[in-house]
Amino acid sequence: MAKKKQYVVLATNPSKSKPNAAPHQIRMGGDNVTYCTCWAWRMSKVHPGPKTCKHLERYRQTARDMEGLTRAG
Ligand SMILES: [Zn+2]
Repeated sequence: MAKKKQYVVLATNPSKSKPNAAPHQIRMGGDNVTYCTCWAWRMSKVHPGPKTCKHLERYRQTARDMEGLTRAG
């Protein structure tokens, strides 16, 4: 395995208030940790557990919905 950072972009969230700003990305790291590039995620210190933010929450909800649809269909 190479040592360089590897991640997969799961979702992109363009900012509505700042169209010129870089979009926030939901990423899955090589260690299977899901994270976001927004400041809210980085500043998240509410719980000792995994960090989260509104983008991650929305992504998880969408993934859950899609999973349900797949199982239903
Ligand atoms: Zn975020």
